[in-house]
Amino acid sequence: MSRSFKPPRQTSYDVVIVGGAMYGSSISWWLSQNPDFDGSVLVVERDPTYEFTSTAHTNSCIRQQFSREINVQISQFGAEFIKNFREFMGGDERVPEVVLQSFGYMYLADNEDFARTLKETQQIQESLGAGTRHMTAEEIKRQYPFYNMEDIVAGNHNLDNEGYFDGNTLFDWWKRVARENGVEYCENEVVSMALGDAGTIVTTVKLATGEQVACGKVINCSGPRAVLTSRMAGIEIPVEPRKRYTYIFAAENPLDQDLPLTIDPTGVHMRTDGAYYLAGGPPDIDPPVDYDDFEMDHSLWEEKFWPAIAHRVPQFEAVKLVNSWAGHYAFNTLDQNAILGGHTEVKNFYFCNGFSGHGFQQSPAIGRGLSELITYGEYRSLDLSPFGFERIENNKPFDEKAVI
Ligand SMILES: Cc1cc2nc3c(=O)[nH]c(=O)nc-3n(C[C@H](O)[C@H](O)[C@H](O)COP(=O)(O)OP(=O)(O)OC[C@H]3O[C@@H](n4cnc5c(N)ncnc54)[C@H](O)[C@@H]3O)c2cc1C
Repeated sequence: MSRSFKPPRQTSYDVVIVGGAMYGSSISWWLSQNPDFDGSVLVVERDPTYEFTSTAHTNSCIRQQFSREINVQISQFGAEFIKNFREFMGGDERVPEVVLQSFGYMYLADNEDFARTLKETQQIQESLGAGTRHMTAEEIKRQYPFYNMEDIVAGNHNLDNEGYFDGNTLFDWWKRVARENGVEYCENEVVSMALGDAGTIVTTVKLATGEQVACGKVINCSGPRAVLTSRMAGIEIPVEPRKRYTYIFAAENPLDQDLPLTIDPTGVHMRTDGAYYLAGGPPDIDPPVDYDDFEMDHSLWEEKFWPAIAHRVPQFEAVKLVNSWAGHYAFNTLDQNAILGGHTEVKNFYFCNGFSGHGFQQSPAIGRGLSELITYGEYRSLDLSPFGFERIENNKPFDEKAVI
């Protein structure tokens, strides 16, 4: 990691954002383009190469298939934003168009219980206008003859606004335009915070280079390190780094149609990836890992991933691994959903944490929502309050069933 830390230009900012990857950049861009917000914003980023971030390791896919209405709505706005990216960026001619490659997601159920859950979630999605279809095994086999369906009873599938998008283009342009609009990005690390006498406000954040920076509000955008940042304000959140493996492989006999992002009952998922295929998932034993542990467990490909892939798509008996990596989810152990908004006691400390593997697609809607909360003191477009800290404090999960 590069360590050319620099001091910020000012000693005081209205908003200090800890972490400048996808979320630090989404929120700062949304704030910077809102005429109703005229505050100063400092984004502190400890590693501007972003090498070890969730953002750099993402699979960058979007789906409408969630079990919570609000998550469906968040992704619906995500799809609208992606497909109209330049327009949302003010029609700026420099900004490229972003394509949403809608090869769809396919959830497969190998038992009646899970098939019923899929049917229920399909109804929720359909009621919100998403194009999800609940399909029998025979219907799936007709549309995608390459699947082995012998142990599958049903599935959910949607070809509308589900698939891959180049989220890094969103990230790059949010960061670039936020800076042009006056947001300051500073290569440094937030190492501690000072609270006022009553303990209800963060007064300053301390940087690795020693500066104490006064802040009106602090936003925790620290990804898998979220708990380290919240502890600086004396706050515990149930977020931990969990390893997720990604494999890119070539097939000796490629499929003659797109492979939807298929969520196999084994927990392995796979999809089309240009001329290749991508597979991913968790290890069988899934403990929290060290913040700096990105080591690959090479036995997993042979023992878990490839057997699952070859079982589901027999044509993948003959494949060649071309790349692989391990990344970290910021895993919310309470309910695998985001933690958003202000703390209940430390009033100027805001969370944007715990995305548990679906944060990329949520970044347009949640960046917008948090910028509204900072600017107006309330959510104005989508009501994101179900993701508030209160549920953490009260140990009341707002669980999402569709977590990949
Ligand atoms: C393998 C994998 C696949 C995924 N696939 C998908 C997908 O298909 N679809 C989807 O929607 N989501 C997906 N995700 C999730 C998505 O990538 C993340 O939710 C998103 O990138 C989170 O962005 P972030 O800004 O919160 O965190 P990060 O990208 O981790 O960024 C946090 C930043 O904070 C900085 N930081 C931390 N502490 C400090 C500090 N004290 N001072 C200064 N800086 C600090 C870090 O250096 C880092 O740059 C996937 C994630 C992984 C790992």
